[in-house]
Amino acid sequence: MRLLAFALALVSLLPRTLPAQRPDSLAEEVRKYVAVDTAVVALTHVMLLDGTGAAPAADQTVVIRAGRIAEVGPAARVTVPAGAQTMDLSGHTVIPGLVGMHDHLFYTAAGGRAVQMSYTGPRLYLASGVTTIRTAGSRSTYAEINLKDAIGRGLVPGPRIHLTAPYITGAPGGGSMDVVTSPEEARRFVAYWASEGATWIKAYTDIRRAELGAAIKEAHKRGLKVTGHLCSVSFREAVALGIDNLEHGMLTASDFDPSKQPDVCPVSTIGRNNEADPRGEAAQATIQALVKHGVSMTSTLAVYEPFVANRPTKEPRVLNAMAPEVRASYMKIRQEIDSTGSGPIAAEGLRSAMTFEREFVEAGGLLAAGVDPTGIGGALAGYGDQRNYELFIEAGFAPEQAVKIMTANGAKILGVQRQLGTVERGKLADLVVLRGDLTSDPTVIRNPTVVFKDGIGYDSAKLIASVEGRVGID
Ligand SMILES: [Zn+2]
Repeated sequence: MRLLAFALALVSLLPRTLPAQRPDSLAEEVRKYVAVDTAVVALTHVMLLDGTGAAPAADQTVVIRAGRIAEVGPAARVTVPAGAQTMDLSGHTVIPGLVGMHDHLFYTAAGGRAVQMSYTGPRLYLASGVTTIRTAGSRSTYAEINLKDAIGRGLVPGPRIHLTAPYITGAPGGGSMDVVTSPEEARRFVAYWASEGATWIKAYTDIRRAELGAAIKEAHKRGLKVTGHLCSVSFREAVALGIDNLEHGMLTASDFDPSKQPDVCPVSTIGRNNEADPRGEAAQATIQALVKHGVSMTSTLAVYEPFVANRPTKEPRVLNAMAPEVRASYMKIRQEIDSTGSGPIAAEGLRSAMTFEREFVEAGGLLAAGVDPTGIGGALAGYGDQRNYELFIEAGFAPEQAVKIMTANGAKILGVQRQLGTVERGKLADLVVLRGDLTSDPTVIRNPTVVFKDGIGYDSAKLIASVEGRVGID
């Protein structure tokens, strides 16, 4: 008995490490997508962007052993262990698995569609190189709890999932969200979902300061964090209330509207900041407030781009993944937006949002990214995460900065940066192999060949083939 107590005490002294999933624990439904399942793998001669923000390094070798990164460095200096499966990846780029911070497991699209993505979501995320997601608000929370469990048990292919509770909002909001009308109700909501395993709370556009403040206090008491797609509460007010993260950046901030009344969301939401100055006084004050209080921000440029006229938003692989009716209604609304010459979001509005994010990062802010597969349905799970990378490059970020935003920064916000988010020795082997040189062509982000999660390599093309024509159904 005493020995057992001693052993348990020893175990509790060990660093808290996430165990890596092993290939022999995978069910047939997962195994059929597995391309690499050997314990020791060497990825040789790759262009490496390691997620730390360091300059890209050519001709590198990454050694994976039992699900973890065992070695990384110049190909000339790293010895490939005897018996390793060597993959000569000249002409390829390796980046850490993407951490999608606004990666819902439901999809909404043109024509009022809304569907849970228990089938297409996890496959598309993993196929696209997204190995960790935060769900950032849920509609069918138990479907997501069960999916997380199924992925963890090796029954379904998919990313690691950080669960977010259903949305909380205030009147006149509603739909699938909890409309909280008192601080007591907000506390009760948080306590319940904490007990069900949620680690994040998502506040939405009509919540009032009193309820948001109560939710944040209760969440922090229970070790949860709070993020928001806000409107009735400004970014600066939310920072003062102690929020941890803010979604969507400048496109949803109500800090730019001088006529805004407390606790009320102004009528026009989308495109409201088309004319606002991303370097002006309100922008700088907002950025300073976030940076000073360590509040991170999630960029979701990909979901907003389809609201802007004449942007490249009809990529064939995106249209192929959609169910036919979804595709038809998406194309119809895209045609309408293009024919006006200016959509709900002006071209300048999108550009300002990009500038605001650059300013935030330059001021020392912690920026992450996610797809948000909602809006008019043009930003699909995974594909939209990749599109964010291209939009970051368009915004003026260097490739290594964009990769860091999409990997290490997300891991830091989730509190898993010691395990994930960079290609460094000892971390879990979540890696994306991309065909081509990402540093010279941003569209290379669309070319994962093998996506490693826990050192197990998944065949991206096979996963994509399994979802064709199904997005918008399940
Ligand atoms: Zn969202």
